[in-house]
Amino acid sequence: IAQIGDVPALPGDRVLDARGGVVTPGLISTHHHLFQSMLKGVPSAIDAPLETWLRLVPTSYWNRLDEDALQTAALVGMAELLLSGCTTVADHHYLFADSYRYDPAAVLFETADRLGLRLVLARGGTTRTRAFDTDDILPTPTEPLDVMLRRVGDLVSRYHDPSPDSRRRIVIAPNTPTWGVTPDELRELAHAARAMGIGLHSHLSETGNYVRYCRETHNMRPVQFVAEHGWTGPDVWFAHLVHLDHSEIAILAETGTGMAHCPQSNCRLGSGIAPAPDLDRLGGRVSLAVD
Ligand SMILES: [Zn+2]
Repeated sequence: IAQIGDVPALPGDRVLDARGGVVTPGLISTHHHLFQSMLKGVPSAIDAPLETWLRLVPTSYWNRLDEDALQTAALVGMAELLLSGCTTVADHHYLFADSYRYDPAAVLFETADRLGLRLVLARGGTTRTRAFDTDDILPTPTEPLDVMLRRVGDLVSRYHDPSPDSRRRIVIAPNTPTWGVTPDELRELAHAARAMGIGLHSHLSETGNYVRYCRETHNMRPVQFVAEHGWTGPDVWFAHLVHLDHSEIAILAETGTGMAHCPQSNCRLGSGIAPAPDLDRLGGRVSLAVD
């Protein structure tokens, strides 16, 4: 909102009669997985915590996500957002498989255009995957780092618009910084994003296991680990950040690294309560998200 009161129309302005209505800025969801709109009712996963849920839902269904399914999921997810007043979404989409006969980014951007939504595509992916001890689960697709970077570069040249009124942006968003890519690759991703002039996004510290894994593998807490690898600053934001200690909250606030606070998802999975008010009190960047 730029001005309130008696505002004369300028040449080229479109005037809407909004008498009896309420004019409000559009809300923004800073972390979403639109494809999961098709996967909300998987019975075996109804009460599962994060790791089990990931195995039973996205990992069990990713190879059946055809173009129709993604289009429907995006349509449903975006319609839900618009009906609640949300006009911008950062969609963390991490399923880009060679076996798909369609381009997921094209489907998402076309659907957003159709509904008039601003879409920030946080282009996910991993170079390493988690192996499961059952044959009935096909691990989610991986790609070598150079391939991932080339594909992100293609998306940037096709879709990314850096202007303030932009409706289309691209962000580099590996699924998890602590195990989805190697530490060197994490650093390279940060360099590449800054060279391309785009942002960085990922999941961080959603559950206690996440913190435990990082301390055991990297001998650091997750926020310290990402800070050591160039993943802090005003061009970076993380989903969740539920399990933080005081030093981590201070790093986030000092560097302007954002939190996508996902209270409903954290509640549903029993992940915990993120210290969003603490980060906010220190002047940190807190936004709301659906996940
Ligand atoms: Zn997420």
